Amino acid sequence: MAVPVVDPDLCTGCELCTQTAENTFAMNDDGIAEVINPTGDDEATIQEAIDQCPAEAISWQE
Ligand code: SF4
Repeated sequence: MAVPVVDPDLCTGCELCTQTAENTFAMNDDGIAEVINPTGDDEATIQEAIDQCPAEAISWQE
């Protein structure tokens, strides 16, 4: 199963993904998004967050 992964070196901390897929992504103490639950939102919602990320920091990984 593919799961979303945030590259912390690319994330700019814009918080967009945490608003689009709020059950999947959250901001950590460093102001970087991280995956809190890879199946927190349906795949289409997670894909929307991936597509919206201005830094292209989120990808699907097997
Ligand atoms: S949308 Fe992208 S750049 Fe913005 S917080 Fe999420 S992972 Fe980081």
